[in-house]
Amino acid sequence: MTDMRHLCVFAGAGMPRDKRLLDQAHAIGQAVAAAGLGLIYGGGQGGMMGAIAKAVLGEGGYVHGITPRFLLDNEGVLKGLSELTITDTMHDRKQRMYDLAAAFLVLPGGYGTMEEMLEVITWCQLQVHSKPVYIFNEGGFWSPMLAMFEAAHAGGFIHASHMKLPRELATVAEVVAALEELAAAAVADKPLREVSRI
Ligand code: AMP
Repeated sequence: MTDMRHLCVFAGAGMPRDKRLLDQAHAIGQAVAAAGLGLIYGGGQGGMMGAIAKAVLGEGGYVHGITPRFLLDNEGVLKGLSELTITDTMHDRKQRMYDLAAAFLVLPGGYGTMEEMLEVITWCQLQVHSKPVYIFNEGGFWSPMLAMFEAAHAGGFIHASHMKLPRELATVAEVVAALEELAAAAVADKPLREVSRI
């Protein structure tokens, strides 16, 4: 589906203790489908990842799961995906996700989610891409991370101009508005600069 714009979502594979997070992931998934955006994600069936993907599919939307072969046995793949890509390596997976995405949305998650979030922020900092990176922070899950960014800025490690690279979205309603804006944007997505050149 090349004519469709895609949102790439990073989210935890584990089951959140706070079940409201699942409801929020579900509502965001419904909004992705309603905006006419496709979802790119890791392909998993559990936790926040599964919740958003199932919601998009439940609304008749398009979901493309991308997973490295070695994770198939551990994490499994959600049944009923619109498209499934199995890559040889984790780096191939991430490159494919980043190539296809028009924007990135980070939901609550663990190390995997944090690694992916920081990678797309740093790639934006290095001008490998100029795609928006949204951080969903309803309930404040990511506030300690945002405070860490502030501390790094105060310490001279993150330039003021780079503090706006991750855009905090404080409510589901703010996510919905950002998705509508994304769907309406007419600008063509620029291809990523070759990672081997950074
Ligand atoms: P987590 O946030 O740790 O629950 O991980 C969420 C997803 O990120 C899972 O599907 C993992 O396969 C994936 N993941 C874990 N580690 C990495 C990594 N280093 N790079 C990319 N994805 C990862």
